[in-house]
Amino acid sequence: MAWILIISSILLLWIFSLCILLLLPRFSFAKHLGSAFRKRNVLLVIAHPDDESMFFTPTINFLTSKGHNVQILCLSIGDADGKGNIRKKELFQACVALKVPMQQLKIVNHPDLQDGFGKVWNHSLLAKIIEEEITSCCVDMIITFDNYGVSGHCNHRDVHCGVCMLHDTLQRDIEVWELVSNNILRKYSGPVDIWWSLFWAMSHSNGTVQCLANEHSRRSFIAMAQHSSQWVWFRKLFVALSSYTYINTLRKVK
Ligand SMILES: [Zn+2]
Repeated sequence: MAWILIISSILLLWIFSLCILLLLPRFSFAKHLGSAFRKRNVLLVIAHPDDESMFFTPTINFLTSKGHNVQILCLSIGDADGKGNIRKKELFQACVALKVPMQQLKIVNHPDLQDGFGKVWNHSLLAKIIEEEITSCCVDMIITFDNYGVSGHCNHRDVHCGVCMLHDTLQRDIEVWELVSNNILRKYSGPVDIWWSLFWAMSHSNGTVQCLANEHSRRSFIAMAQHSSQWVWFRKLFVALSSYTYINTLRKVK
């Protein structure tokens, strides 16, 4: 009997949290959420095709709904399994699902930036490629992974280091925000994570932590489903259970 009670409680909490997440923009206390983002040219820097759909959908949905100009720079074609060309096409399709114009997506295929565990990406090379992109596209805000890179993948972590290296040397003022990596409990708590994320963002009254709720969490599934070569059962389960489908917590890099 006890386990039925526990499962029912978790289910109820899950549904209640999902309802709160959908209603969040209507609550007055939530109006400040995402307020740090004025209308801007935003560059989302990712390592692999599917990072945008698996981890950053709440951010992309928030930015596009507020009229920001979102551009995506993907630093590899994800060729670890020899499916690089297929994955490139899938990323373009995912961009359509995420309402990001296809001309605002750039995919890099550099011999020294190949997908894979144990493949070290040169931070100076990354900084140079990202700098070229922000100059040509007049970018004034960058969003990327934090130093753990959500899943701990070395390519995600290198992308973070490349962005930080660039940030330290840039002459002009460009804001850099990083996606906060959650511990395993929060990572698989789905919409329930909204409570902790909200509390954490509101406790930073200076606005250096922002909680972005996904009003269109179904879009995460639709976008990820465009990555047919990756859309296997465990990734379907991940998207359903992951808090990154429902909420993104972004922290401003100093
Ligand atoms: Zn990745």
